[in-house]
Order: sequence, then structure tokens, then C-alpha cells
Amino acid sequence: MTRARLVIGNWKMNLAPSATDRFLAALRDELASLPSAVGVGLAPAFPALERVGRGLSGTPVLLGAQDVHAEKDGAYTGEVSATMLRDLAVVFCLVGHSERRRYRRETEADFTKKMDRLVEAGISPVYCVGETLEEREAGRTEEVLSRQLTAFDGAATPPPGLVLAYEPVWAIGTGRAATPQMAAGAHRALRSGLAARWGDGTARGLRILYGGSMTAGNAAALFAEDEIDGGLVGGASLDSKGLAAIVRAAG
Ligand code: PEP
Repeated sequence: MTRARLVIGNWKMNLAPSATDRFLAALRDELASLPSAVGVGLAPAFPALERVGRGLSGTPVLLGAQDVHAEKDGAYTGEVSATMLRDLAVVFCLVGHSERRRYRRETEADFTKKMDRLVEAGISPVYCVGETLEEREAGRTEEVLSRQLTAFDGAATPPPGLVLAYEPVWAIGTGRAATPQMAAGAHRALRSGLAARWGDGTARGLRILYGGSMTAGNAAALFAEDEIDGGLVGGASLDSKGLAAIVRAAG
């Protein structure tokens, strides 16, 4: 089964709204030369969503958010709901990023609720999973990935639009990407976990992105693996040319 590849830029807490115009102008110049079969998404910080959404209008680039609150609305100072994101034309949202797991101590139970809210709002979840170095060295990668998939316990079918992102924690922002073989092995383990939940055919149709120090220099080797359906790109996505080069490598 061929799965359309997808490359998402996760800007994290970078690029203030006023800093996004130049990026978007440069990206628009690149778009015509990018492979049309590869989806491209950008996930700016909340304050930049509206401006980036305006800048992307008329382009095929998808607007995403980096997080969402687990409740529908109410007294949650500082939080942002799925319906607010939908109002800004957000079409996908990261859930379970390792920085949320680590700094906010978010758990699978939180991620289940967040994905429920996204689905209610018609937003596709991009669910991030991955092991720490300690867990990999202890031979526990598959066990950790399988525990992270428990966020789907109780889901008879995948959340509509679900995309998975395998992001080994030790590779994020370190300049030390997983080898293509390591990444493909983890993707296969994830896909078999998805097949155990929802059946082979469904699992084969779900996209699993790789994330962790992906750059224009290593993307082609990673994309040579059939199991790798695209990239979730942090640091390298802050440069439009770098992001465009990764999209080209995915094509
Ligand atoms: C990420 O945080 O999603 C990520 C993959 O970061 P980087 O590309 O900078 O490693």
C-alpha cells in the first residue's frame, strides 16, 4: 500500500508572529518546485497561528498546532481548546511530544483526552512516541512504544486522520538522528502494535513519520526506508530552504 508522505515542521517556541512573514514568503517561492505528492505542514506556536494561517492561504501547506488542552472549555487559565484551534483553520495537532511528556509530565491518559477533543473538532492528531536513550540501551524500546500506544485503548478504530510520529528522545535536538535501520525497525514495531489493535489493513494505511535531528543531509537515507512515511522536523524546519530540501528528499 502506498501512503502519501508528509513532512511537518514543528517550530516549538521559536518564530514570533512578526518573524514568520519572511519564512512564509521564502517558502512560497519554493512551493512550485516541491513534489506535489508530499504533504507539508507547519506547526507554529499558538500566537503565530492566525498569521501563519493567513500566510498559507491559497497554498497546499497544512496548518497545525503543537498542543491542545484535554478539556472542551472552561476555567483553565492559559490553555487553548480544540474548538479555538478549529476556529483558526488548524487541521492537525501534535499530541504526546516528548517535551510535553518530560516537562509537563503528561501521560497516555492525557493524550487520549486530547485526541478525543481534537477528533470532536475535526482536527487530525499527530501522536508522538519514542524511547529515551536509557530505555533503548536497556532493550526496552518496543515495550515503551507499546505502552505509549495504550493512549488508543478503548478506540475501536483509529482517530480520523491519525498520523504517528516515531521520535526517539535521544535524537531530538541532539544532531544524532536514528539510523534508517533503527528508525525502520521501530516503525515496524509500531505498525505491528497498530495491526494488533485495528487489523493489518488499517495499520498498513496509517502514516508513521520519523522525527529526531532530521536534516537535508540525512533525510534521503531515512526516506529510502519504505516504512518511513515522512518527517516531523524541529530545528531544520526553522529554515525554509532546509525544510524544502527535506520535502524534496521525501518526493
Ligand atoms: C521535534 O522536536 O519534533 C524534533 C524532531 O526536533 P529536531 O528535529 O530538532 O530534533
